[in-house]
Amino acid sequence: MKGITGRIHSFQSLGTVDGPGIRCVVFMQGCPLRCIICHNPDTWDFSGGEEFTAEAMARKVLRYRNYFRNSGGITVSGGEPLMQAVFVRELFARLKAEGIHTCLDTSGCRTSDDVNALLDVTDLVLLDHKYADPEAYLAHTGERQEDAEAFLDLLQEKEIPVWIRRVIIPGLNDDDASFRQLKRLRDTYSVIRKTELLPFRKLCLSKYEALGLPFPAEKYPEPTAAEMESYRENFTKAER
Ligand code: SF4
Repeated sequence: MKGITGRIHSFQSLGTVDGPGIRCVVFMQGCPLRCIICHNPDTWDFSGGEEFTAEAMARKVLRYRNYFRNSGGITVSGGEPLMQAVFVRELFARLKAEGIHTCLDTSGCRTSDDVNALLDVTDLVLLDHKYADPEAYLAHTGERQEDAEAFLDLLQEKEIPVWIRRVIIPGLNDDDASFRQLKRLRDTYSVIRKTELLPFRKLCLSKYEALGLPFPAEKYPEPTAAEMESYRENFTKAER
């Protein structure tokens, strides 16, 4: 009998930027959102990618277990992993049974019984919280800010550690009010263990060209290293 399957966009064997330590990163295929800075427009189509059973994917990840040492493990990213929560739950359950650390990289766009069950086998969540202003949130992602925060409420209730990640786009979400809101969020939810400010990058332009799509955030500049430094300082100093 065929086990639970998921549609996978791609697999990265030794990632170092999506969670602690050295990790295998599984990029799921399919996303209902349309973030204007999305790096992976090729993951949007729910019918793309390749089908894998959770068992086959777990076996693939376990080949790299010697690299994980104490802090590494698996991160499932996307696309949007919550859209294939049953598959990811099965994958995580198999890996947790082998002592592997499990991490979910998500927009937090939905909560459901399946998502709840997935969180029961999730050790860490990387949550992209994109804008302070609810209108900007919806306009630039297609996601309601309240949905991301309902997901955060669920993480708080289940006491699952979270790293909040915000990509800083100069002119769009680099104002003082945005940093204040981010700080409020961090101070409100005790499960937030880390807040990462990441620079907006346009490395994905060729992907949009290949798909014949305009890159909606083309007019915004990439922040320099010095600007990122000063954003991090603004965040540290922001008053609630
Ligand atoms: S949630 Fe992620 S994959 Fe989906 S559109 Fe936004 S950035 Fe792209």
